[in-house]
Amino acid sequence: MSAIAVIDSPAGELVTRDREIILERVRRAGVVGAGGAGFPTAVKLQAQVETFLVNAAECEPLLKVDQQLMPRQAARLVRGLCYGMAATGAREGVIALKAKYQPAIDALTPLLPPQIRLHILPDIYPAGDEVITIWLATGKRVPPAALPGSVGVVVNNVQTLLNVARAVEQEWPVTRRTLTVNGAVARPVTVTVPLGVTLAEVLALAGGATLPNPGFINGGPMMGHLVTDLNTPVTKTTGGLLVLPEDHILIKRRMRDVRTQLAIARTVCEQCRLCTELCPRHLIGHELSPHLLVRAVNYQQVATPQTLLAALTCSECNVCESVACPVDISPMQINRMLKQQLRAEGARYEGPLREADPMARHRLVPVKRLIQKLDLTDWYHEAPFDDTPYQPQQVTLALRQHIGAPAEPCVSVGDSVSHGQLIAAPPQDALGAPVHASISGTVSTISSTTITLARG
Ligand code: SF4
Ligand code: SF4
Repeated sequence: MSAIAVIDSPAGELVTRDREIILERVRRAGVVGAGGAGFPTAVKLQAQVETFLVNAAECEPLLKVDQQLMPRQAARLVRGLCYGMAATGAREGVIALKAKYQPAIDALTPLLPPQIRLHILPDIYPAGDEVITIWLATGKRVPPAALPGSVGVVVNNVQTLLNVARAVEQEWPVTRRTLTVNGAVARPVTVTVPLGVTLAEVLALAGGATLPNPGFINGGPMMGHLVTDLNTPVTKTTGGLLVLPEDHILIKRRMRDVRTQLAIARTVCEQCRLCTELCPRHLIGHELSPHLLVRAVNYQQVATPQTLLAALTCSECNVCESVACPVDISPMQINRMLKQQLRAEGARYEGPLREADPMARHRLVPVKRLIQKLDLTDWYHEAPFDDTPYQPQQVTLALRQHIGAPAEPCVSVGDSVSHGQLIAAPPQDALGAPVHASISGTVSTISSTTITLARG
């Protein structure tokens, strides 16, 4: 059976099945991985694989984007997957999602051609770590430090494939982002906003914070980053905005500096191994053993170079910090510090894929338990969609919203631009993605990292 057969998807006719046209339109539209670090999608789609996997797990508690986009744009998602399959030659498409996303299952099921199936994931964390998603949905285990392509799989998330479909069918660039505002806000909500609006504007769309001293996280409670400036603009990879009390453990942990993290680790690590026994990468057979890395920072004489290099294979899923460690140490932060050092030295990890832990599936964390463990019960809301269009007076577009080289401005201050117009392009032959105007207006400022547009 050939990938070309997916043209007959009940989700609608594809406008093209030509691989080169698909890749070129996706590249020109500036599509990047919307669920991760922003790897340029046109580069990812150059792989030739057997299976195209849609990561629709959305396992971070409090984020409600993909699970609501799927029933609303089911046909577009299936067509986006078909374009991905046509580009990569994949013979099988899999949409991996959870049973609790029943409206999405109902909307997608009648649209699936024979080559595409749904895979129902357990409601565990981190079902959305792509290495874990691949294992759960296909049974294949990606070796440590290897890409999914090494086991014949390519992974995209829901928003990425919706952007692929728009790029291929309408030649429409990425100028918007859908995100959830949740936690201690007046009106928890999921909204679609032009790229470049500030997190302060996004917060206002949710009615503002309901606490006098809020703390903010950009993304989910497990993998999101502390927000120190609400003027930070929304980019193609902004996951969401969470508002919590400033003395909430998730905020306080993110405010600790490295010196404090290390001091805690040196003082209280009891080498109980719980962090390793619950580490999802360790469970599926990777060498990564966070308790050994914590020990290594405490007693460098016991660390082998190979032990330290394994830090490079940490996904930063945060299970070791938020779920496992009984004494509030963050092996993840220690890994992050080690990774920075090792990458600066140009180090690379090479190591075996061992047998998976026979108890691996049972040691992943149920999301309900995670919400309790993270003390999020009071801040968990459904955050329904609000379709009211938001029209900002100004947007500030980052020149780097992706992995690779920053885009270079191709407009000047004072230029008039229209929505969707190219305003910055990646340097020739460099890995990167173009940036487009997310509103019509005038270029008011260009800095070394941003372009600001004023409406009108
Ligand atoms: S779980 Fe905490 S105390 Fe136990 S080995 Fe890991 S870092 Fe040390
Ligand atoms: S953050 Fe911790 S639990 Fe997650 S992969 Fe890294 S070491 Fe393992």
